[in-house]
Amino acid sequence: MANLISPKCKLCRRTGEKLFLKGERCFLPKCAMVKRPYPPGRAKKNVRRGGFSEFGRQLTQKQKIKKVYGVFERQLKKYFIEARAKKGDARENLMRRFETRLDNVIFRLGWAKSRAAARQLVNHGHVLINNKRVSIPSYQVKKGETITLTERTKKSKLIENLLISLKKYQAPTWLGQEPDELKARVLGVPAGEDLGDISAIGLIVEYYSR
Ligand code: SF4
Repeated sequence: MANLISPKCKLCRRTGEKLFLKGERCFLPKCAMVKRPYPPGRAKKNVRRGGFSEFGRQLTQKQKIKKVYGVFERQLKKYFIEARAKKGDARENLMRRFETRLDNVIFRLGWAKSRAAARQLVNHGHVLINNKRVSIPSYQVKKGETITLTERTKKSKLIENLLISLKKYQAPTWLGQEPDELKARVLGVPAGEDLGDISAIGLIVEYYSR
């Protein structure tokens, strides 16, 4: 797991965007991006006006994606090389790699309130793929695989309110979720809306293609 040294809210304020790193708090008025939507260490009146250079935008986007998905530089570069080598749009391939990480999948299923919490669930051996324990957050899920939690985890306090909150939650369609059983089946690969803003990812592709 990537070690994010700076407090999470400072990362959002620095990138000027909500990165949703703290679970529920991100949706409340006490979110730092609601209260102080300007970079840390600067008074509101000193907020930089005008845009970044092209390079600055590429760099900011790269930093942002690392923080959102909790990956190191080396890992990001590896994902980019893989994405470029595959057939199709490198931006979509790259985003697909992030979205199919096991920690992200657990987050997308609604089984954890943030990707950091999802990483912890995986790291601590609570997650099973095809009934085998997988404790690698970067593990890439594949079509046909079944994802579930260990029986012990399902009975734990950790999961107590999860079944209730999942009733109101809609997981992405490529993850066939059975909320009552805390079970999901990978039905395909994320595409279209599931991949989010591809143009932003294009800045990362441009950065590494220089
Ligand atoms: Fe970012 Fe707000 Fe969440 Fe803090 S609470 S991590 S500022 S979105």
